[in-house]
Amino acid sequence: MLKSEELIKKVKSYNKFLNPETLNKAYEFALKAHKTQKRDEGIPYIIHPVAVANILTDLKLDSATITTGLLHDTIEDTYATYNTIKEEFGQEVADLVDGVTKISEFENQAVQNSKAENFRKLILATSKDIRVLLVKIADRLHNMRTIKFVKDKNKQIRKAKETMEIYAPLADRMGMNRIRDELEDLSFQILNNDARELIKKRLDEIKENRTSSFKNISYEFSNLLNQNELNAQIIGREKTPFSIWRKVQKKRVSLEQISDIIGFRIILDNIEDCYKALGIFHSKWNCIPGKFKDYISSPKINKYQSLHTSIFGPNKRPIEIQIRTMPMHEFAERGVASHWKYKSSEKFNSLTWKEYDWLKDLVEIIDRNENPEHYFEYTKLQMFQENVFCFTPKGSLIKLPKDATPIDFAYSVHTDLGNSCIACRVDGELTPLSEQLESGQKIEIVSTEGAQPNPNWLNFVVTAKARSAIRHFLKNQQHDESVDLGKRLLDRALANYGTKYNQLRKSQIKRLLKETSAPTFEYVLQQIGLGNRVPFAVANLLVPPSKRNIPEGKRNSSLPVVIDASDGLLLQYARCCHPIPGDPILGHVTPGKGLVIHLESCRNLKEVRFHPEKCMPLTWSRVVHGEFPVELKVEITPERGFIAALASRMTEEDATIETINVTEKDAFTSIVDVVITVRDRIHLAEILRRARSLTSVRRIYRVRNK
Ligand code: MN
Repeated sequence: MLKSEELIKKVKSYNKFLNPETLNKAYEFALKAHKTQKRDEGIPYIIHPVAVANILTDLKLDSATITTGLLHDTIEDTYATYNTIKEEFGQEVADLVDGVTKISEFENQAVQNSKAENFRKLILATSKDIRVLLVKIADRLHNMRTIKFVKDKNKQIRKAKETMEIYAPLADRMGMNRIRDELEDLSFQILNNDARELIKKRLDEIKENRTSSFKNISYEFSNLLNQNELNAQIIGREKTPFSIWRKVQKKRVSLEQISDIIGFRIILDNIEDCYKALGIFHSKWNCIPGKFKDYISSPKINKYQSLHTSIFGPNKRPIEIQIRTMPMHEFAERGVASHWKYKSSEKFNSLTWKEYDWLKDLVEIIDRNENPEHYFEYTKLQMFQENVFCFTPKGSLIKLPKDATPIDFAYSVHTDLGNSCIACRVDGELTPLSEQLESGQKIEIVSTEGAQPNPNWLNFVVTAKARSAIRHFLKNQQHDESVDLGKRLLDRALANYGTKYNQLRKSQIKRLLKETSAPTFEYVLQQIGLGNRVPFAVANLLVPPSKRNIPEGKRNSSLPVVIDASDGLLLQYARCCHPIPGDPILGHVTPGKGLVIHLESCRNLKEVRFHPEKCMPLTWSRVVHGEFPVELKVEITPERGFIAALASRMTEEDATIETINVTEKDAFTSIVDVVITVRDRIHLAEILRRARSLTSVRRIYRVRNK
């Protein structure tokens, strides 16, 4: 294990602004924090953070990042907290460690069924600083280097897959090719070691046979460039087994074809020389068609630059050549990390930082996928930044727009889950369904069979899917209910002519449809239910005067239509008299409004009460669920705290107080006007009884008409 002094020496070699005390302190802090812990391989845990810091040092990163490398597992695994780190090492380091810890927590939540793409985005959405990603990638690299010591085979495979799908692509997008290659190869070793061994064996054979030829070609290239007064450094390029495997998979060429090719990198002093060298190669040897790529004038999306070409070189052997300058080479190896400059201070140049707003670029690159023509499409980037990512209880990651609620979440998992949703837990806590979600939360939807979407949800859902699913459900339900209510109302009207709904003959219905030009009988029933057609008018059309058999004295008196809970969407309760379940009621058919329910004694019905085509006798079904407002008037002797006493009596009985108003009548009497919601008449009676038992209450009664 690297000692503290060695680590400091290594950082100092590229960063003279380092404060050795801080780094030493972090080293000691980590040592102490992980003192009793062991890694899977049985070695002291501290080996891991030190190795991570070392990797970050290889990338020549600033000391805040190296410090974070040392401390990255302390918040998650030891007694240390965000605040301790902040006190000891300052906010910058504390935020970085916190960021790395968050990603690790997400990893633990996300099981196999998360989409890798979503997980990559989650990581980006939550890493506010690119250095968090760099530490995370170094962490993963060391964990993969030691993956063979993990005893649980399934865990090995899971980690290898995660690396292949999430961290290697991230390293790739950040231009860190060397780390990407290593991550991929280490995962490959776990996921398909047989294939890897096969390729490796073949590569070793080639290497043995070709060592001399490699030297010869290298020598020949070097001479050629020198003759042309170019100062070049020539490096042989070793391919990883995985990169060959991927090419074999992708291009359907044989292993022989690919692994036979020798690769060279040629480093030159400046861009001009790069193109000169290219010209020299192309004029001396034939280039292989379709292999030339100029990534200097048009860099790859991760900002990689080089000239790529393949030639039939000496002895007609195919040779791959990459030509680049030293800074390009540095970038190709270390990627985004190569942008840290230590010219005048520890702080990386904020201008450089802005110029390479890497996090922003990464977001763009990843969201864009394989779609180069949309590179500059800003709207997409915005869309992505305005997302939240939440987990299902099983660890799947669900992508939602910003401000999404648990209802949106439920519908994006499945429409049925949305429709039957009744409550939710966010990170284990019961949370209102209208709460806005945040990235990384675990959402558990509580659902019940037979539950229904609440029209109120439309006020806060943000996804189109939730919105349209709720509307669709309500519309269907309203349709079914209006047909059903229409049927009952028509049945009532028909009773006055001595017949019934289910005694109607086809010929009667046919005639009705002809006379009303309605498309279907169901449509007519729906229109009755919605109040757009008067049931008696329809009955008149169905039963011609000659066929009517009016029961003696029974006209419009019997067979009230039963009103039940599910009619809630169609029925309206009159605001003048506030009927509640249990009250004697009458329905008033109002065109365009449907059936409005009044108290039987409501004064507003005086005029229409005896017009059977306008009024319907109704009755409540035995159980009607809902909350119904009721207006009460209380005459009271003012005493200390009488309002509070009255209010608590009512709420103890489970009534909700909607409004309360007190007027002083004289010195001895106050009038309290209160609107409460109740379930039914029995409930109301109990509330009144309890209120009357208060000594200050002289009189309490229900207001039935305004
Ligand atoms: Mn770690």
